[in-house]
Amino acid sequence: MAVVTIDLAKCINCSWCRRVCPTETIRYFSTGHRTHVVDRDGCIDCGICVKVCPIDCIHPEAYDVPPPQLEAARERARAYAANQRRLKLDREALVARTLAKIAGGAADA
Ligand code: SF4
Ligand code: SF4
Repeated sequence: MAVVTIDLAKCINCSWCRRVCPTETIRYFSTGHRTHVVDRDGCIDCGICVKVCPIDCIHPEAYDVPPPQLEAARERARAYAANQRRLKLDREALVARTLAKIAGGAADA
């Protein structure tokens, strides 16, 4: 399985990759320096970080994640996806309530 590695010589530490990683396996300051690094045993090879990196400094690396760690990472990704779905539904409900309130206020005027 391919996982990713970050070219630290190019990385500008924007944190975009860390914020979108569904398994939270991209760490910051873990080396004691202001850098982003991937804990490869937590990577499910989804490729999202590669797509968001503004300077293309994240690259595939051949590595087989041990099965127990891989399953744990997949479980974190499933929980992340469920949480994102819940947040989306909450946002949509808030928008619907706000629009209904505005429409109600317009009808009363
Ligand atoms: S490929 Fe996916 S799981 Fe792996 S570090 Fe990037 S965003 Fe995280
Ligand atoms: S998205 Fe790219 S430049 Fe930004 S912190 Fe991650 S690896 Fe570094």
